[in-house]
Formats: sequence, C-alpha cells, structure tokens
Amino acid sequence: MGGESAVDNILNLADRMLKKLRLPYRSGDTEVLTSVSIGASIFPTDTPDSSKLLAHAKAAMRQVKKNGGNGFFFYKPFMNERIAERINLENRIKEALEKDEFVPYFQPVVEINSSRIIGMEALVRWKKSEGSLILPRDFIPLAEETGQIIPLGKNILQNACAITKSWIERGFSDLKISVNVSARQFDQKDFGKMVKQVLRETGLPAESLDLEITESVISRDLERTGIMMFELIDAGVSFSIDDFGTGYSSLLSLKMFPISTLKVDQGFVADMTSNPNSSAIVRTTISMAKGLGLKVIAEGVETNQQLELLRRLKCDSYQGFLFSAARPADEFEQLLIDNRRKAA
Ligand code: C2E
Ligand code: MG
Ligand code: MG
Repeated sequence: MGGESAVDNILNLADRMLKKLRLPYRSGDTEVLTSVSIGASIFPTDTPDSSKLLAHAKAAMRQVKKNGGNGFFFYKPFMNERIAERINLENRIKEALEKDEFVPYFQPVVEINSSRIIGMEALVRWKKSEGSLILPRDFIPLAEETGQIIPLGKNILQNACAITKSWIERGFSDLKISVNVSARQFDQKDFGKMVKQVLRETGLPAESLDLEITESVISRDLERTGIMMFELIDAGVSFSIDDFGTGYSSLLSLKMFPISTLKVDQGFVADMTSNPNSSAIVRTTISMAKGLGLKVIAEGVETNQQLELLRRLKCDSYQGFLFSAARPADEFEQLLIDNRRKAA
C-alpha cells in the first residue's frame, strides 16, 4: 500500500499497539512491564521485493532499539547503510586483531615537583599495514558495543605489560603503566583472573600495573565491582578513576572502593586558567583527593600557565601535550632515558 492514507493507517496502528502493549500485566504475583519496538517498511515505495521489505522493516526496528526501544520508526535508506558500515568495521577490527595491528602508544605521567617521568598511560592506536593510524574514538565505541573490546583489551594489556617489563629490566624499576579498562571488560566474570594471568605471563610485577576505570564502573554493581577490585588489589594492582568529574560517582563510592588515584578530566584543565568554575572544580578535586589519601593526576595539560596553577594547587602529577603526546614505544624509551639523565 502506498500513499498518504497508508502511512496514516500504519502510524495509527503502531500507536495503538504501543499503547496497549506498554500496559503492565500480571503473571502470577508479579507485574510485568514490556517494551515494544516496531519498524515498518512500505510496499512498493521502499522496495517491490517482499524479502527486502521485511529486512527493511527489521532495520527500522533495530533503529528503534538503538534509540532506547519502546517506539516506532518507518524505514529510511540510511538505516541499512549504517548497518553495512558497522558490519564492515566490525569485520575489519576482527582482521586487525588477527594481524596484530593494535599497538599501545605511551604518554608520560610526570611528577610536578621533580619533572620526573614516574609512569605512562597506554593509549591504543590502530596501525594499518599501509601506514595510517586510527585513533581510539573511531573504533573503541564500536568494539565496546560488539564485545570485541574483550579480546582487544586483553591484547593491549598484554602488549603494554610486556613492554613495561622490558623497561623495568633495563633499570627503570619504579615505572607504573596505566591501562584503560572499559566497563564491558570489567563486567566479565573472569576479568580479575585474566589480568593476573597476563601479569604471570609477562612477568610484570603487579605493583607496576594501574587500571583506569571511569566513574560509571564504580557507580553500578557495587558488590561485584568491589569483590573484583579487592581481588586485584590483594594481588598488588592499583586503580585510578579516569575523567574524574564527568560522571556520577558518589563520594561514598570513592570512600568505599580501594582507589589510589583520581585523574582530573582534561575538560576542566583546558580552561582552568580562564574559567573560575573550572579552577574551583580542579582545586576542590585535588583537596578532596588529598583528604581521602588519593593521588591526583591532571590530564590534558597544554600550557605553562596551567602547569603553574596546578603546582600552586598542590597537584601531584600531570599528563599532556606540554610535556609529550602519546608516543610509540621506542620514542617513549628515548624520552625516558633523556628525562632520567636530566634528573640524575
Ligand atoms: P583517556 O584515557 O582519558 O586518554 C586521554 C586522551 O587525551 C588521549 O586520547 C590522549 O592522547 C589525549 N591527550 C593527552 N594529552 C592531551 C593534551 O594535552 N590535550 C588534548 N587535547 N588531549 C590530550 P586518545 O589516545 O585519542 O584516547 C581517547 C580515549 O580512548 C581515552 O581517553 C580512553 O578513554 C580511550 N582509550 C584509549 N586507549 C584505550 C584502550 O587501550 N582501551 C580502552 N578501553 N580505551 C582506550
Ligand atoms: Mg585514560
Ligand atoms: Mg581521561
């Protein structure tokens, strides 16, 4: 059915179905709430082919689900293109993992008082065979969605730990490596076991590993999260909260969980020398962290003014382009050698 009235009819029908199906119903003693996602495709406007028509309707339904579910969409051509793009990228990530194209870059963490490199954050880069470099924002979100972050995260952890172990063996024994962990990885039942296995296999001392999680991780399943963290902390691993100030962790959870470092989000650092609200947030975060016995790292430090202000606010350490962006392992090693020579 084509034409205006067909569209109106479908809309009307979908609306009635949604209203009816949304009503709670009883099953025994429990009240059950359902949500409904409806997609529709119109014959022959969208396609004259009956099997495609169904696939189009399904694509529209998936789009509803992606937007949180409980609603209705008509099929639009971009819906299939997006799915095709996604599947394409998903396959390319799989291949890249097999070809070992994900490499950690390292950004130094610098102690403000001594200008000494005390550690580094592993930041993943997708290095394609033809030489191009892809940044995390272009593949981490999809890898998180598809679950590929689980093998990918393990791969990054293995590489970062193995390289750090080799630096420790060369005399940089006090270095700490920070590795980003996404919520999806943390939700894996055997996450703790996996981390300990990687430490055993690479020979990196657990005390040299720091795991960065975001506030969203500690604000969810408190009990499970706590058990997992204590298991790793017992082994010697430490935890940092990344992008602190952008999420919703309660102050109570900061007290409850065995966190050792807060990383002040770069958004606050960026305008802290011109925006009194940002500088107030940075100042408060630093003093709260100190009060709780935590260390503070400021992220995204780009100017000397920012560094001076952080020094005055008694921030412990920083990362940022002012000192160095993330670099490949060999370049980072050179930076480390030069830095330690100066400090000696
Ligand atoms: P993040 O963990 O908060 O990392 C900090 C980001 O800020 C990095 O971007 C870093 O290159 C960038 N940055 C460092 N200094 C400066 C500066 O002075 N100015 C500005 N404007 N930016 C600076 P990158 O490497 O693109 O990573 C982005 C995000 O992707 C990371 O944010 C992290 O959430 C995620 N990510 C990176 N590597 C991994 C990984 O191995 N696993 C997981 N799960 N996520 C990762
Ligand atoms: Mg991080
Ligand atoms: Mg961050």
